[in-house]
Amino acid sequence: MKPISELFPLLEDPRKIVVTFHQKPDGDAMGSGLGLYQFLIQLGHEVTVISPTNWPSFISWMPGCKKVVDFEMNKDKALGFINNADWIFCLDFNTLSRTKNMEKVLEEFKGTRILIDHHQQPQEEMFHYGISDTSKSSTSEMVYDFIVQSGHTGLINLHVSECLYAGTMTDTGSFRFNSTTASVHRMIADLKDRGLQHSIIHENLFDNFQESRFRFFGNVLLNRMEVFYEYNTALIAIPQADLIKYNVKTGDTEGLVNFPLSIKGIKLAIIIIDRGDERKSSFRSKGDFDVNTFARKYFNGGGHFNAAGGRNLEPLDEVVKKVKQAIKENKELLKSQ
Ligand code: 5GP
Ligand code: MN
Repeated sequence: MKPISELFPLLEDPRKIVVTFHQKPDGDAMGSGLGLYQFLIQLGHEVTVISPTNWPSFISWMPGCKKVVDFEMNKDKALGFINNADWIFCLDFNTLSRTKNMEKVLEEFKGTRILIDHHQQPQEEMFHYGISDTSKSSTSEMVYDFIVQSGHTGLINLHVSECLYAGTMTDTGSFRFNSTTASVHRMIADLKDRGLQHSIIHENLFDNFQESRFRFFGNVLLNRMEVFYEYNTALIAIPQADLIKYNVKTGDTEGLVNFPLSIKGIKLAIIIIDRGDERKSSFRSKGDFDVNTFARKYFNGGGHFNAAGGRNLEPLDEVVKKVKQAIKENKELLKSQ
């Protein structure tokens, strides 16, 4: 993988470009993707953003989102853009498998693959150019750096700003996590100087849910959460029947895993959701417990030190058993300091 700076001079000639990110995109995936899109079109490139799957409705307000092609819903259309593209930007994922059904298509792509990402252990051999930096708060921050370092700071308009703010804010837990460096705040100050109205973005993201989502949360916290104080761990296991009963949509479960982390003393929070075709897990930790390693070892996943995910094909009760075994094996690491 050549350094991303070698791509900068090549940005000046118009090309056909596809921008993509991980499946079930979150605020950072969609925010970095659309932020990059809004920048590249100003340079005269022909750009299409393709999402491997659908996305939560709370990010649909982002400028340009209506033009995003859903690979699962419109496969032929998406393949048409990919087969015609000179470049594909791959954002906010470290391995091609994070793009679900697009994995093979990306592998076989004849043009140039470019990576911009902040996850651990990237598949560098799959990319011609790229930057992987686990110290970065978000891929959106990295897209901001990309624009600035390529000499195009003047192209950071309101559309670019709104997308990059949304991505950085969501991936830092509203500027709370350790990854929120001084340079993150400097970037936000710059976006504010350019006219960004940040409070509207918070409303768009956080104040647009259906009542049923909160009834669902109520049920989960009351009936589906177990706390294991001897392991400083809390586990939430959600059967598929709950998702159906409360009409849970993509994105509705976002943030749920953080609730048990607010219980005094809890170091590790785990959520397992039975999505029917697979059991999707999320892991969040505080302090020195490494959930990237934990998710890799037991749950076919990975991510960051304090936030990771995974997936299993076994039934929900088997995965719950696996969790209980895994926390037992990690008892020493989970001990309070
Ligand atoms: P979430 O729990 O929000 O789905 O994901 C937390 C973090 O772990 C994200 O940075 C995400 O990219 C990563 N992650 C989630 N699921 C998986 C997975 O199945 N495999 C890998 N390698 N990373 C994942
Ligand atoms: Mn991210």
